[in-house]
Amino acid sequence: SLSDRLTATFKNLRGKGKLTEADIDGTAREIRRALLDADVAVPVVREFIGRIKERAMGAEVSEALNPGQQVVKIVNEELVGILGGQTRELQFAKQPPTIIMLAGLQGAGKTTLAGKLAFHLKNKGHAPLLVACDLQRPNAVRQLQVGGERANVPVYAPHPGVSSEAEVPTGDPVAVARDGVATAREKLHDVVIIDTAGRLGVDSELMQQAADIKAAVGAHETLFVIDAMIGQDAVNTAQAFNEGVDFTGVVLTKLDGDARGGAALSVAQVTGKPVMYASTGEGLKDFEVFHPDRMARRILDMGDVLSLIEQAEASWDKAEAEKMAKKFADQEDFTLEDFLSQMQQLKKMGSMKKLLGMMPGAQGMRQQLDQFDDASIGRIEAIIYSMTPHERNAPKIINGSRRARIAKGSGVHVSEVNMLLERFGQAQKMMKKMAGGGMPGMPGMPGG
Ligand code: GDP
Ligand code: MG
Repeated sequence: SLSDRLTATFKNLRGKGKLTEADIDGTAREIRRALLDADVAVPVVREFIGRIKERAMGAEVSEALNPGQQVVKIVNEELVGILGGQTRELQFAKQPPTIIMLAGLQGAGKTTLAGKLAFHLKNKGHAPLLVACDLQRPNAVRQLQVGGERANVPVYAPHPGVSSEAEVPTGDPVAVARDGVATAREKLHDVVIIDTAGRLGVDSELMQQAADIKAAVGAHETLFVIDAMIGQDAVNTAQAFNEGVDFTGVVLTKLDGDARGGAALSVAQVTGKPVMYASTGEGLKDFEVFHPDRMARRILDMGDVLSLIEQAEASWDKAEAEKMAKKFADQEDFTLEDFLSQMQQLKKMGSMKKLLGMMPGAQGMRQQLDQFDDASIGRIEAIIYSMTPHERNAPKIINGSRRARIAKGSGVHVSEVNMLLERFGQAQKMMKKMAGGGMPGMPGMPGG
């Protein structure tokens, strides 16, 4: 399996300590294969792999992970980012009703989705109205009405008299949309969901119709509905709809099938628009808010590898935190080495919050550590690296001439060395207090 192959790759990489181009190439090959297996469009895969290689080459070597795991971690982060980062929910208009329009090819799942979305919003306390603007396909209006009945949501359809399945409702879909929105205003619906027609292929007449409906009603959200099984065609279809109706979000349907969801990556990368919902069956409840992190896992198909990475990182963080906690408990002297290692952890994590959360009673440190941004941590590193090991372990000996030497060696002004030593002194005092159980009432640290 893919996981086995990757584990083998990792074994070869383990212990080298530094990422080489050959290492990255090895993992990148496996990632490329995983993406192609997931039916991500070929040009999208090429661009993605290029970006990963660039980022991996510049990445700092992690102490918690082996190089192969590190590359997979970068891949996963990039994937989640492209898929929209955080889950994006609908944006409701300040002045109701919020108008949501669905667009996409025939058979993508728009009409089915309309019912599910109405049901979802109704359960969240909204009062939606469905509007039937597919006057192209026999039985399309009836299909929406059935969905509306199931969801217990009313449907605005001006042509209820369609008696036979073969009969195509007539009328102007733009006018129906406009009237539907007017009806929603009148009857105090706060959300309008407009179902539209699609064709089997991208079609300029229907695209124009969708654009006209959107303009006529001033849709707040235009959701591009796409079948996850569309595969390599995802790019062209998404591009056409992006240009045609400039959609605001994507809904991926039929994720209950075999498709691994590569289309999500293709669409998101090519259009830059977020995937918002996933449809996972024909039932009203087969619908979920889209989670980029879960989809990244599905596309990569390396859930176990990613879990391993998370475990490795968590246990490394915990070990570091415990080392530090033990040091306080032992009342050992807090040295500049410790100070530096704290700063480096802070930099690595982006925030000290995680570490502080693991150290009982350490919350008071946050205020002090919040004073340091990445740039100032870089300067602190430079200053401490310019000290001798003896100076780092016995900072008291750092007198005026040593300060001048250190400032020169690290390319900063002496005042910065002074400030660092002052901060260190404060941190040291605080550490002693913490070790003595004196957390409550910790004095706030003066800012720099
Ligand atoms: P539209 O032409 O875009 O309106 O597509 P429809 O809503 O009519 O759906 C086309 C077909 O796909 C219907 O048979 C639906 O029941 C089916 N369908 C829609 N969404 C899903 C889904 O998430 N999973 C599965 N398995 N089938 C779906
Ligand atoms: Mg339909």
